[in-house]
Amino acid sequence: GDVAPARVRGGNKPHAVVVALPLQGHIIPVVHLALRLAARGFAVTFVSTEAVHDQTARALGVDPAGYDVFAAARRRRRAPAGGEEEAPPPLGIRRVEFLGALLHALSAHVERLLRRVVVDPASTFLVADTFFVWPATLARRLGVAYVSFWTEPALVFNLYYHMDLLTQNGHFRCSEPRKDSITYIPGVASIEPSELMSYLQETDTTSVVHRIIFKAFDEARGADYVLCNTVEELEPSTVAALRGEKPFYAVGPIFPAGFARSAVATSMWAESDCSRWLADQPPASVLYISFGSYAHVTRRELHEIAGGVLASGARFLWVMRPDVVSSDDPDPLPEGFAAAAEGRGIVVPWCCQVEVLSHAAVGAFLTHCGWNSVLESVWAGVPMLCFPLLTDQITNRRLVAREWRAGVSIGERGAVRADEVAALIRGVMGGEEGVRIREQVRKLKGTLEAAVAPGGSSRRNFDEFVDELKRRCG
Ligand code: UDP
Repeated sequence: GDVAPARVRGGNKPHAVVVALPLQGHIIPVVHLALRLAARGFAVTFVSTEAVHDQTARALGVDPAGYDVFAAARRRRRAPAGGEEEAPPPLGIRRVEFLGALLHALSAHVERLLRRVVVDPASTFLVADTFFVWPATLARRLGVAYVSFWTEPALVFNLYYHMDLLTQNGHFRCSEPRKDSITYIPGVASIEPSELMSYLQETDTTSVVHRIIFKAFDEARGADYVLCNTVEELEPSTVAALRGEKPFYAVGPIFPAGFARSAVATSMWAESDCSRWLADQPPASVLYISFGSYAHVTRRELHEIAGGVLASGARFLWVMRPDVVSSDDPDPLPEGFAAAAEGRGIVVPWCCQVEVLSHAAVGAFLTHCGWNSVLESVWAGVPMLCFPLLTDQITNRRLVAREWRAGVSIGERGAVRADEVAALIRGVMGGEEGVRIREQVRKLKGTLEAAVAPGGSSRRNFDEFVDELKRRCG
């Protein structure tokens, strides 16, 4: 749409042009980052696609044409879970090929927009998701600074950043990659090839996703600053190593303290209201299950997990995106599941996850280990059962289960099985293992809270970043 020049809208404030990657797991943190920048005195132009804009409006049941994101967030509408007015099913996520095309196509649009809104390049900076394939080039062409925003852990950034080392050492981009431990990445004492992001474990590296990653990290090398949604104390050696490479700021968790409701609507799908059902459940008795917004599971995996959930005897709240197996298979749960689970659990298409996680009735989270989900679970003090499916989720699981001992792994030693799932659920929700893990999560929660409190590392890092940008932008 039409954009007034920053000087008109923001007076003499330094101007941040923030460009969001059109995926749910990226929209949520980047909106909160933009709000934080605005709160610190920057004029912010937020750039998103019309598809995302319209989808967030539809999720709230408002007309996309007259949609005001701030007003809409205030009058959030919910469909009661399990009630007659069930939320409409989420739309399927676009295929990755489309995403690839979009990433390239956006470049021309963003350049046109930047040329309109950049009045004074010296006082403007571009904040773009690291996965975009053009920000450093574009920023250079326009004479503005590029702030790369990384929504995944520092460890994952670090591994992508050092893909050349992985290649030179025969762990990546060869027909038969080495299987021994990787011990040469700065800041990472040792990591197994099986813990790398799924894309770095693939031998065919000619896919669209690989082309995006290679180009995006070329661009990340050209970034003036990197902001990362992590906490220094969660990944100390990696963050220290990356600081040696770039002005790298760990400023997470980005969500507002206490999960305060955002001033802007960020959900791309209508949220079912689970609060009434949760209110009737005993404390820490409910297993929350979600595979996030993007990943798919196979029908077989889903059936094993469903069998495990039933056999565990636990109560559950399961977010089942209608496309979680595939768009052609909207009802993939095993026959008889609903009857067997009667009175013990509910299945919803989408919910307000942070509200669910922070409810006293929730005792564990069976998660695909998306980074937002991991941070939210820790913040809510909820132990995790890790079932990663692709991309960074596999590496995130290493942090959760192996480094922090804040969760257990499902199916790490082969295909997932119902009896394994049932035993792990029982162990985490009831057994001694659960007590130990809960204690670890409690400590990590304290670490996150301290990081964003006055004097904490993320607070300090964000202050330093803001001071640096204000100095640079005059
Ligand atoms: N989410 C939500 N409702 C749901 C499922 C997920 O609000 O029913 C949110 C969740 O709180 C998180 C985001 O969607 O902030 C998913 O991001 P994540 O990085 O965990 O996974 P992705 O979807 O990117 O794989």
